[in-house]
Amino acid sequence: MTVPARTLDDGAWISVNNARAVSNSDIWPLASYDFCDCDVAHVLCEAFFDVSVHRDVLAVGAVGQCIDCGTKDTVDALPVGRVIDGEFHRFGPGSFQATNEPRS
Ligand SMILES: [Zn+2]
Repeated sequence: MTVPARTLDDGAWISVNNARAVSNSDIWPLASYDFCDCDVAHVLCEAFFDVSVHRDVLAVGAVGQCIDCGTKDTVDALPVGRVIDGEFHRFGPGSFQATNEPRS
């Protein structure tokens, strides 16, 4: 089953199944993603430039800034949630960790 996922409003939103699912105003704690020198990078997402669904995991590419140290960078294919039966289920805070398998 293919779920339509795309970016909206110049990357301000991720749309899943034609519903707004992820906003660019969120702060993502990235503990195991090599974003900056912080132990846990608290990244304020500024814009999404990519979205993909692999199996049932929705991953995004985004431009963000660490609110602790100010580093600006991009993240590629960051898993942010799962699509189950056509519905988007977002990972909780702390689960935005690119090197971890998503919890089921
Ligand atoms: Zn930082």
